[in-house]
Amino acid sequence: MDEIITRDLYRDAQINYKKGNFSTALEILQKAHEAEQQIKGSQDVPVDYDILFLTGQIYYSVSDFDQAKLIFLNLNSREPNDQEHKEEIIEQIKLYLAYIYYYLGRKTGTTEVALSLVNEIAKKNKTNIYALELLADILYFNKDYSGALDIYLRIQRAVDNLNRVLIKMAYCYYYLGETPEAATICDSLYAVSELRTDPDFKQLYDAIQEKSKVKFNEENPNMNVLQKLFLKLFDRQITKSLTKEVQHERRMNLMQRKLYTDLLTGINNRLCFEEKIKPKFEQKEIISLIFFDIDKFKAINDTYGHDIGDIVLRKYGEIGKDIFSRDIFRIGGEEFIAVYFGNKDEALLIAEKFRKLIGSELALHVNTEKNISLHKVTCSGGIAEYPKEGNNYENISKLADARLYYAKEHGRNQIITEGQGLIKSDSEIKLIEPGTVK
Ligand code: GH3
Ligand code: MG
Ligand code: MG
Repeated sequence: MDEIITRDLYRDAQINYKKGNFSTALEILQKAHEAEQQIKGSQDVPVDYDILFLTGQIYYSVSDFDQAKLIFLNLNSREPNDQEHKEEIIEQIKLYLAYIYYYLGRKTGTTEVALSLVNEIAKKNKTNIYALELLADILYFNKDYSGALDIYLRIQRAVDNLNRVLIKMAYCYYYLGETPEAATICDSLYAVSELRTDPDFKQLYDAIQEKSKVKFNEENPNMNVLQKLFLKLFDRQITKSLTKEVQHERRMNLMQRKLYTDLLTGINNRLCFEEKIKPKFEQKEIISLIFFDIDKFKAINDTYGHDIGDIVLRKYGEIGKDIFSRDIFRIGGEEFIAVYFGNKDEALLIAEKFRKLIGSELALHVNTEKNISLHKVTCSGGIAEYPKEGNNYENISKLADARLYYAKEHGRNQIITEGQGLIKSDSEIKLIEPGTVK
């Protein structure tokens, strides 16, 4: 294509293609080809490589894969105009073909041709992200979710913020039964407003919501109108802080998120607490620390086994996440700390909501030969407020812990916010050096 007229027409077509004016672009390409025929004085001139390539891209863009396939097969048997970038162009053509074969093959469930083309590309260029993505898509299509996830994670590490890949990852986690992981990704993607109308995303988001739904007590006929109003107000506050957190989450990369996530419950772990919350005790902002501990949890392990104990912990964490969003941390065993950025009176309201929800939602159906019974789970809490009640993290946490201890000593299933409780002195506790105990 050495004539200026055809070049100009080609460029014009390219601009229209990029703008999405596909039919205009096709008309211009047709004109470019006719111009070339006129210049060469023959009808038999083969369509120029670049013109044909762009034509193929247009058919591909409008999902006319049968037409696109013919074009790319033809290109695949020819030499590109641009010899300098020959290898890259050939790789591109192969990738288009691979995608086309994949899309056509999906209808009949055959993805072998696409797979062999992708492998061919991958052999030559291990860093072609699009080829990797297609490979993962094919694995996903064949229901190899863990294989697909592996590759999506690699892509995600190489290219940050690929929402498309993130959605697919979330789907993999979802199908692998790892709903908390899927939910974390969905939560962070929810902040991207244009995704909220994306049907793929919406479908997954709704499915996850449905799966991890916690019934709130709002339907309870015994609840009075004032209580209902209170819950509504608090729900709104939670949603507000959630949106803030979601935006924050988006900026954190996925690997770091993994490091901060407790494996059993899927909520934030101790490391996260140490790094994200403790430093806040050097600022002026009001923080209420809420220490929670499950009541008589050891008995659950002893009676029904550790596995059942784990299930209880997981559900407990799920409800915690529903109430406190990201501001609840599993510090160890069955000890959780929730953080509320406000005074302890407000913190108590939300903590009470959690305690009541545990009392009403978390129960084991015990089905023995003799009878069926319900083992209800409860929890206790202690709250202390910074900086009003202590000038650093250590003091506040000691106070919250002492109040939790007081709650335990005085009947459990309650949250204490006042008094010193019984502060246990730790001055008598000393670490025994290894080897000194016989
Ligand atoms: P209290 O009401 O006084 O809190 O009684 P408790 O039985 O809950 O006593 P405590 O809090 O000391 O018990 C903690 C128990 O939690 C002991 C341990 O067996 C159990 N635990 C800690 N981590 C895990 C875990 O990851 N899974 C399971 N299943 N149990 C755990
Ligand atoms: Mg405990
Ligand atoms: Mg306990």
